[in-house]
Amino acid sequence: MPGGHTQTLRPFLWRASKLYPDTEVVSRNHDGMSRQTYAEYEERTAQLANALDEHGIEQGDRVGTFCWNTDRHFEVYFAAPSMGAQLHTINPLLPDEHIRYIVDDANDEVIFVDPSLAEKIAGAAEGAEEFEGVDLIVMDDSPVEAIDGPVYEEFVAGHDTDYDWPELPSEQPAGMCYTSGTTGKPKGVEYTQSMLWSHTMMSQSPQGIPMEDDDVVMPVVPMFHVNAWGMPFTATAGGAKQVFPGPSPDADDLARLIEEEGVTITAGVPTVWLGLMEYCEDNEVDLSTLDQVIVGGSAAPESMIRWFDDRGVEVLHAWGMTEMSPIGSVAHLKSDLEDEDYQTQLDKRSKQGIMVPGLEFKVIDEDGNRIAWDGEEFGELYVRGPSVTKEYFKRPEANEEDFEDGWLKTGDVVSVDPDGYIKIVDRAKDVIKSGGEWISSVELENAIMAHEDVSEATVIGVPHEKWQERPVAFVVPTEGADREGLDDEILELLDEEYPKWWLPDAVEYIEEVPKTATGKFSKKDLREQYTGSVELHEGSAPEEAAPESDD
Ligand code: ADP
Repeated sequence: MPGGHTQTLRPFLWRASKLYPDTEVVSRNHDGMSRQTYAEYEERTAQLANALDEHGIEQGDRVGTFCWNTDRHFEVYFAAPSMGAQLHTINPLLPDEHIRYIVDDANDEVIFVDPSLAEKIAGAAEGAEEFEGVDLIVMDDSPVEAIDGPVYEEFVAGHDTDYDWPELPSEQPAGMCYTSGTTGKPKGVEYTQSMLWSHTMMSQSPQGIPMEDDDVVMPVVPMFHVNAWGMPFTATAGGAKQVFPGPSPDADDLARLIEEEGVTITAGVPTVWLGLMEYCEDNEVDLSTLDQVIVGGSAAPESMIRWFDDRGVEVLHAWGMTEMSPIGSVAHLKSDLEDEDYQTQLDKRSKQGIMVPGLEFKVIDEDGNRIAWDGEEFGELYVRGPSVTKEYFKRPEANEEDFEDGWLKTGDVVSVDPDGYIKIVDRAKDVIKSGGEWISSVELENAIMAHEDVSEATVIGVPHEKWQERPVAFVVPTEGADREGLDDEILELLDEEYPKWWLPDAVEYIEEVPKTATGKFSKKDLREQYTGSVELHEGSAPEEAAPESDD
């Protein structure tokens, strides 16, 4: 095949390095700030590809990352896919058992590990056959105790700064990310070159989240979360300066990076921005360079949009999914709404938005009919398009459930107003979303029900001002069981198996779990009955449970 006709990431790297060789890629690393230009970045990427070649990585192999948002992580972002391998970002906040499952399922050849996460992965890998044959490489210039392997700077040092990037077909797998299922194990989503190319071009359209050569882009959303919503690719395509906030940035770090690097576009889950807003109330922070904050993953509260508006910063509320690479809709104001009053505009901007160009959707009600776009009727949102996956990796049973005639069934229940703005009214899925991270209610329930004094248990997410949702467990003790101290025992039991931030904020005793007609636990009923009346106690210390602001 003659070269250059397929849809791949390579031209984006080529463009940035040739048109914007002096534009910077900046990173807050554990040992201080580091800076390079796109010209240097391209050379480092080529060196890494050569090093991976020498290490035996071939086209189709998976290259794992277990990293925060850093420049070295970004180097893997283009090196692995452009050499024909697959960038597999692993979420380090998952329980060890999921990490082992994912590494085994994806069959990673190597995993690049952030030094601050070395102990975490070493713990998951210890004695685990899933990790046999997987080489761990620490993303640093000096070794760490927990991992006995080469360090990144040694690994790439001395390699040629040129690489003969191969011609790749559009369908070549380029990326991979796991999403939490409502039941069972995480599900792998493979991104082809063409999906990532399409996603980048959609993002670059005026009604996506375009990034230009005078932008300074800082993804706070982790790079292990659907490629930080694709921003490193979009920013490179546009020749924007990139700022990576590194391990565990807190509000102070973010404020400083915005000020010092002149950030114009940043993105993350609502929890992150609530933290920054609070910080700005108590500290003098100059947000004058900031044009846009992209808020997604959970609903952006109207008060947040107002707060940023008052400071001359536009909040763009976006909705998406891992299965969609991930952006689906963005709440841009349509031009004919520009003369409407502020509240009407806010109502629109608080919704999940209008579909980006390139995607189609339909909304199907319980009877299988398409709903009217009247803002009242609701149903399940189906989507399709070139950035939407057509299947899960090695999971035929999940494919049956989540795809229909080429459409992805999102599991989100939505209404659509006459202007075409989508609003999520409920989630068909019952997973709990806390600080932008999934907590599987099903897993917690099963673990709780393993306690001999528990006959039934169900866990639901209750709204939480800072974390959007926190888990609360509802437990039916067995007859005659001693209830005194049972809640503490349950929390201890969960503490052994799950990260702190998964632990329910409250354990409530109930006499019976409400059931649906088919005998399943009815969380909907439970929510209606109990949500308002639960008093959250300090149980699992949400402060330290902060996956996003903690990372
Ligand atoms: P993400 O990185 O966007 O969190 P996931 O695949 O983990 O991707 O989660 C996707 C789900 O998150 C959606 O199906 C939806 O339920 C929820 N979600 C994403 N964005 C929003 C939003 N802006 N408002 C409400 N829910 C959202």
